[in-house]
Amino acid sequence: MPELPEVETTVRGLEGVLKGRRLARVEPRRPDLRRPIPHDLGQRLTGSRVTKLGRRAKYGLIGTDRGDTLVFHLGMSGHWRIDPQAFDKHDHLLLETDEGRRLTLNDARRFGTLDLVPTSELDEWPAFRALGPEPFELDPKWLRERFQSRSAPIKVLLLDQRMVAGLGNIYACEALYRAGIHPARAAGSLSLPRLRRLATAIRDVLDDAIAAGGSSLRDFVSPDGTLGYFSKRFAVYDREGQQCGSDGTVRRIVQGGRSTFYCPKCQH
Ligand SMILES: [Zn+2]
Repeated sequence: MPELPEVETTVRGLEGVLKGRRLARVEPRRPDLRRPIPHDLGQRLTGSRVTKLGRRAKYGLIGTDRGDTLVFHLGMSGHWRIDPQAFDKHDHLLLETDEGRRLTLNDARRFGTLDLVPTSELDEWPAFRALGPEPFELDPKWLRERFQSRSAPIKVLLLDQRMVAGLGNIYACEALYRAGIHPARAAGSLSLPRLRRLATAIRDVLDDAIAAGGSSLRDFVSPDGTLGYFSKRFAVYDREGQQCGSDGTVRRIVQGGRSTFYCPKCQH
């Protein structure tokens, strides 16, 4: 499943093909993914120029000079293909630029989404309205205020989209490990210096993953033209019973229905 670093590397890969280009052809190839694709998507985007690529939480944003932004979510299996030789049956959207470059959004399981949102209304779009800050922009003091008197485990609150947007289970585990914070600790009990370490750890684990993706995918594109997916190594995630990055043994617990991996020796 694509996590935030895959979405970020996908957006950077798309930027290389789309930024500043005019969309000569925009063609949805089925009416829906997880929910309907706007019926006028092709009509509204064809002929527009791509002005800006971006990301909010785990959504990719393709902004145009017509005042519309194409918002995509990769769901469980979504990915973009660059200049595919032929259509695949799971290619659900085609974008063709004025240079003749072709991009297809391929999503076998169709848990992804495609929406067209007026750029000026993005912040108020229902999926974005309640989102907390981006994990790269966390202010430890703001976290301290939000967590105050909260007895919920820090790990559970890190997955709450109103606290941090798009962090995801893997990177919540890895960041807590790197910050030396036990995942079951009450969020409200964390001091400001520990929250500072946590905010830094969150930024660092994501930065490292994006950098690793960028170096394993040259220019964020794999040799077969797929954007964004790369293999990753983790210190604790999915490593129950194995040695942590230091000399402890990784344990797994379930919190809020999700697996948490942590090291009881390194995290307090
Ligand atoms: Zn350890």
